[in-house]
Amino acid sequence: MLSIVIPVYNEADMLPLLIERLTKTLQTIPLENEILFVDDGSRDNTLEELHRQKKGNPAIKIIELSRNFGHQAALTAGLDLAKGDFVAMMDADLQDPPELLAQMYQLLASGDWDVVKGYRTKRKENFSRRQGTRFFHWLFGQISGLEGIESTGHFSMMTRQALEAMKQMKEKTRYMPGLRSFIGFRQTQITYNRDERKAGTTKMSTGSLLSLAADALFSFSRVPLRVCLWLGVTGVVLFFMAGIYVLLSKLMGWAPVGWSSTIISIFFLGSVQLTFLGALGEYIYRTYKESQNRPIYFIRNIS
Ligand code: UDP
Ligand code: MG
Repeated sequence: MLSIVIPVYNEADMLPLLIERLTKTLQTIPLENEILFVDDGSRDNTLEELHRQKKGNPAIKIIELSRNFGHQAALTAGLDLAKGDFVAMMDADLQDPPELLAQMYQLLASGDWDVVKGYRTKRKENFSRRQGTRFFHWLFGQISGLEGIESTGHFSMMTRQALEAMKQMKEKTRYMPGLRSFIGFRQTQITYNRDERKAGTTKMSTGSLLSLAADALFSFSRVPLRVCLWLGVTGVVLFFMAGIYVLLSKLMGWAPVGWSSTIISIFFLGSVQLTFLGALGEYIYRTYKESQNRPIYFIRNIS
């Protein structure tokens, strides 16, 4: 069986076209299939539309979360409930063409691969989004030490074995593409152009994208902590030398008189310390979240 997991949040307008293109593609794949829609607390008539579509299409399963938990949590819910021997995840907005699923399946069916990811060559999104995403992928690739992170998003298909590995990672702050790279196995990618959203507007605000980026960076890397440490050590050396210079000037009588240098150093050191405290705080907050050990999502209904 092949399971397709699709998180939806206020996507009523997308559903008819999405389901049409998806079922057309699924017909070309010689497997039984289930389409798991995870309704992430939508406020429009996404749910009614899903139930309407389900009448004509028994492959559709609807998982209703108890409120909006966010993209990553919704995906997690779908992956937890997927029954397939192969499992794909994709967004609902048709930025990622469902037709690629057939190709992904062929690669997995050949037995040579465990994970097939979509690799986006062009993106039809606005300039700042595109550049922001590019910068994030570059930075994340540099500091996480994970392979195959660049230009791959959620769109992917994997075997049951790879999925079971993903499911073992129960952490609360989740960045799925990172977790997917983390598991290893044999991963490959197919290249495609990322379309623009076919209907509606983006459901990820700039704020939630930034916090996703922060989750990714802090949960896959200790580079921010390392930066604090090395800057601190460099500071100790520099300020030791500066201290000697200041003492010498005092003794020799060339000490400049004035408060600007004093004030500037206080401000400078104060803000550097606050920045480091902030970085520390990010890790402490995440440790706190883990220790609370709350469930990642709650399900209201499955149909
Ligand atoms: N989504 C979700 N919960 C949210 C926000 C988004 O389930 O709180 C879903 C949304 O319906 C879509 C996918 O996550 O299927 C990706 O969202 P979107 O396409 O708006 O993100 P973008 O492509 O702009 O980053
Ligand atoms: Mg999108």
